[in-house]
Amino acid sequence: MNTIRPKNKEEILTEVKKEVEQCTLCALATTRTHTVFGEGNPDAVIMFIGEAPGEEEDRTGKPFVGKAGQLLTRILQSVHISREEVYIANMLKCRPPNNRTPKEEEMEACFPYLEAQIALVNPSIIVTLGSVSTSFLLQTKESISKLRGRWFEWRGGKKIFPMFHPSFLLRYESRAVGSPRYLTWMDIQEVKRVYDLLRETT
Ligand code: SF4
Repeated sequence: MNTIRPKNKEEILTEVKKEVEQCTLCALATTRTHTVFGEGNPDAVIMFIGEAPGEEEDRTGKPFVGKAGQLLTRILQSVHISREEVYIANMLKCRPPNNRTPKEEEMEACFPYLEAQIALVNPSIIVTLGSVSTSFLLQTKESISKLRGRWFEWRGGKKIFPMFHPSFLLRYESRAVGSPRYLTWMDIQEVKRVYDLLRETT
């Protein structure tokens, strides 16, 4: 007798990705080159959630591969976290024209895909990068400057930790105390501290 094997999470993530590739739920479907689903460790303890694909991401179909993505990689490397061990996604899977800010209706339309990714990967820590994903997930209008560097409980059991978006950091060279780059250096060390604690206790 043939038994039916339940699908594993990687298979389900691949199915959701295929669904995204066909998605026409919002107008961005008409202007995108590629959808950008997200990528990384399906068992990641940390998930990073940015805003939306940029030009390079739209061209390649991969998240955080442009200048901001390269900076994110360096931020992770500074605390010995590799991109392969985390999961990286965006609020939107398609690029808004000229990188404009995502509209509320676009985020509402796209959120079920991100929700599916969060449910499947099931990270303990969600780092929201920038004001768009932070405001949407925490349902707040508070500025990212006030929210970054703080832990928030989310949906009973997950921790959200907002940080500046790497594209914002690209505008500032200074690493002086209190600068966005300095604050991000403090923030990623805090993420690493809690990440290590979680891994020790699980
Ligand atoms: S942004 Fe999201 S909801 Fe809009 S078309 Fe792309 S995948 Fe679909």
